[in-house]
Amino acid sequence: MQLKDIGEFGLISRFSKKFLDLIPNGFVGIGDDCAVIPSQKDKNFLVSTDMLVENVHFIKSEISAFELGHKSLAVNLSDLAASGAEPCGSFLSISLPQNVDIQWVDDFFDGYASLSKKYNCPLLGGDTTKTLNAIAINVTVVGRASVEKIKLRNKAKDGDIVCVTGYLGDSAGGLEILLDGLEKTPLAKELIKRHHNPQPRVEQGIFLASRREVNAMMDISDGINSDLKHILSLSGKSADLHLEKLPVSELLKEYYKGDLQKIYNLACGGGEDYELLLTVDFRYFTDLSVQFEKKFGNPLYAIGKINGDGGQLRWFENGFCLNSISGGYNHFSA
Ligand code: ADP
Ligand code: MG
Repeated sequence: MQLKDIGEFGLISRFSKKFLDLIPNGFVGIGDDCAVIPSQKDKNFLVSTDMLVENVHFIKSEISAFELGHKSLAVNLSDLAASGAEPCGSFLSISLPQNVDIQWVDDFFDGYASLSKKYNCPLLGGDTTKTLNAIAINVTVVGRASVEKIKLRNKAKDGDIVCVTGYLGDSAGGLEILLDGLEKTPLAKELIKRHHNPQPRVEQGIFLASRREVNAMMDISDGINSDLKHILSLSGKSADLHLEKLPVSELLKEYYKGDLQKIYNLACGGGEDYELLLTVDFRYFTDLSVQFEKKFGNPLYAIGKINGDGGQLRWFENGFCLNSISGGYNHFSA
């Protein structure tokens, strides 16, 4: 058996079992967006880490060093946002080849620092090594949240509305343009920009975490079709989702000339949207969405609901049940 036979999540569940007994009460370990380390009664530490490897997560000639520095921190802050934590600091380990241009390194750190400043989240440490070829970047972020406000993946309830905080699919569209070497028209360049400049929903995460009607929350990094399954399996719940309710940008519709099949494919199977995916008690959903829109300029987009037990994700299009939808990123899958 090889790694590609069990995939990324098969691998994680295989080794994580060895550590289960060691996790003290009150801690949250492997399986959520962040680990939770209890501290004072009302302020717990949340920690998350994410890695970016050249030619796996980025193509150096396509992304600017500034964008890469910004993105390295952004994807990590997104995990803090997913749990509702306020960022307090980051650690950066980076492997660079000896011949990298110093201007490139300066620009990388300018990008990283710009987001650090935005969220008052200083770089507190890390490690620097040489690499023989591919650049590797690993960021760890630490945040804080009071224990009753932390949102996890395992709390979805029957009847909850499943919703997202913003448009899906733009980033996947940009990635496809890069990977397929498609012409970089002005619209294509905009989509590539969305792929290279994710915006972590930190303020939105903190706001939503303060609301008791929000039951489960995570960020969308692998694509909603894959990510929602984590909420469903950890909560033991099933969900019915509606393809036509996925929020997609005018930009994506214009680029793909209204080809809905393609657009929905990117919106549900693509990744790296870094929007928040949450389930909300249906009785309070409308009020919450109105307040969210007042604060952040867009509503919470309802895309379906939690419906029964069993961990199944059922997709519908205009009322018709679809057999299966594939998609969602998984390292190592064939
Ligand atoms: P996310 O997309 O939110 O960053 P992942 O899908 O990458 O989460 O990971 C799923 C869970 O598995 C997370 O809780 C993460 O911390 C954990 N995990 C992934 N890789 C490792 C590893 N090498 N060692 C320990 N935990 C890991
Ligand atoms: Mg996450």
